[in-house]
Amino acid sequence: MRIIKDLHTHTTYSHGLGSIEDNVKEAVKRGLEVVGISDHGQGHLGFGIKAGALKSMREEIDLLQEKYPQIRITLGIEANILGRDGGIDVTTEDRRLLDYVLCGYHFGSKPGKWARDLPIHLFNLLNRWTGGFEKKARALNTESVVNCLMNHQIDVLTHPGAKGPLDMLAVARAAEETGTLLEINNSHGHLTEEELRVCMKTGVNFIIGSDAHTPGDVGKHEEALNRVIRVGLPLERVVNLREDSL
Ligand SMILES: [Zn+2]
Ligand SMILES: [Zn+2]
Repeated sequence: MRIIKDLHTHTTYSHGLGSIEDNVKEAVKRGLEVVGISDHGQGHLGFGIKAGALKSMREEIDLLQEKYPQIRITLGIEANILGRDGGIDVTTEDRRLLDYVLCGYHFGSKPGKWARDLPIHLFNLLNRWTGGFEKKARALNTESVVNCLMNHQIDVLTHPGAKGPLDMLAVARAAEETGTLLEINNSHGHLTEEELRVCMKTGVNFIIGSDAHTPGDVGKHEEALNRVIRVGLPLERVVNLREDSL
């Protein structure tokens, strides 16, 4: 069993360590059919791409595509969910440059509206540090994620549950309705086995993402695949897995 595409990889445009070409080279080496570059949206205060970066990335990818015809190179973004209304940091203009949109919740993102949305970060951090406030954090996270999926065209929800608790059944139902894939992230441990078991009850589909921050991690999927196998998720529900042809 192998993965044929990895849509979740970072580069020096945000806080990855390698260039786009470094990621492409590794993807070719691993025999992937598609590699995606998905750096953090501008709304991330620490790691977000700079204004105008998407245009440069698009140009760079179009040139690299000519140099590496054996693989499809695509441009995405890991958008940030900014608030309870599900707002994200991707504009209509950005979308013209993008092939796909990943989206996830991150602590370092700028709240859409400070008074309304700062509590999301606060309750998640309090929950992480003290183990309390879980109910409040879960309610705010779930509201944000479900609104995001319902109001925007999102291809993949990244690492659900990794940064704060979610009502996984509600999220999976929304993702099923909107045709959004839930990511089984190879680096973050989410979806966990327990979360996968909940999501499997719905008709939602999944994708494995390496979330590589160094070129050597592009295409890595073994941890995620182990979780898939352990919970007995039918492999055809993971859209980027293929049987080895040997
Ligand atoms: Zn992320
Ligand atoms: Zn990421």
